[in-house]
Amino acid sequence: MTLISIVVPCYNEEESLPLFADELSRVTNSMKECHDDLEFELILIDDGSSDGTLSILKGLGQKEWPFKVRWASFSRNFGEEDKGVKYISFSRNFGKEAAMYAGFCHAKGDYVAVMDADMQDPPSLLPDMYEILLTEDCDNVATRRTTRKGEPAIRSFFARMFYKIINRISDADIVDGARDYRLMKRDMVDAVLSITEYNRFSKGIFGWVGFRTKWLEYENVERAAGETKWSFFSLLVYSIDGIVGFSTAPLSIASFAGLVFSFIAVVAFLIVLIRALLFGDPVAGWPSTMIAILFIGGLQMLFLGVIGQYLAKAYLELKHRPLYLVRETSDGE
Ligand code: UDP
Ligand code: MG
Repeated sequence: MTLISIVVPCYNEEESLPLFADELSRVTNSMKECHDDLEFELILIDDGSSDGTLSILKGLGQKEWPFKVRWASFSRNFGEEDKGVKYISFSRNFGKEAAMYAGFCHAKGDYVAVMDADMQDPPSLLPDMYEILLTEDCDNVATRRTTRKGEPAIRSFFARMFYKIINRISDADIVDGARDYRLMKRDMVDAVLSITEYNRFSKGIFGWVGFRTKWLEYENVERAAGETKWSFFSLLVYSIDGIVGFSTAPLSIASFAGLVFSFIAVVAFLIVLIRALLFGDPVAGWPSTMIAILFIGGLQMLFLGVIGQYLAKAYLELKHRPLYLVRETSDGE
């Protein structure tokens, strides 16, 4: 028997989950027809949703599916009627990164897939991904979208800039348009799990662990229902996490800028000194002095902030806080 675990982080996905489950069951059924040794395990993680996501997950557990349904949930109480469904209850919304990590921790499959609940990661690609892993010499099949149709232009622009910058300054290979959606062999999942850092940036982690990746391309699909959980600001913060997590270049830039400015200061000092000796010292140049002070002062603050970012991350890392908290668990299926 070959087990494929499908990890799905869900946060306020009551509208898309029923559609998603139907589509997934269609896809997994068709895969079972081609490979009769295949079994599936669906691990849904309710990441502290405030809508009806959890009751939908419960409902899924009761129906007949071609896969075994287990769900891991963050923050809710569970009644008697839930006995028999395997769940992990977490205490609040910990974010998609934590939800994916939790899913990987609990996945038992020989292959593990992670996909969104909104069908922006089309389940219909899964059979191709599996086929590629069986026939080609690679350890995981990842997906990237070639278009960003349906996304605000300004968001696409900044996303492109982010990928350009991070690839230049980091040694993790982070592909533009890459989704988290991928199917991995067990070895790679174990490698991802061996990285227990607190500040998780999965796109970087997948790139950093290496292994052989085959990229499947597809055109962007818009959300089936519900809305995106990412605001422009949260994406900006996420991109800074990515840069701080996978590169120390900003720190080197700070040192380099310090060097350049020290050099300029020495040259300027010599010029002023020689000019004063040759031509006397007329009092002038107040505006230029002010500009220089403000500019260098600003730059110092900026780099102090950069150093602060690293310090803050190091501080969080040092605390060794768990990535997610279990509120209660129940065994027995
Ligand atoms: N998600 C999550 N926790 C969060 C935010 C999002 O588990 O705090 C899940 C969400 O339910 C979805 C996936 O992560 O399955 C991707 O989220 P979304 O569709 O909002 O992001 P986008 O596709 O717009 O990048
Ligand atoms: Mg989405």
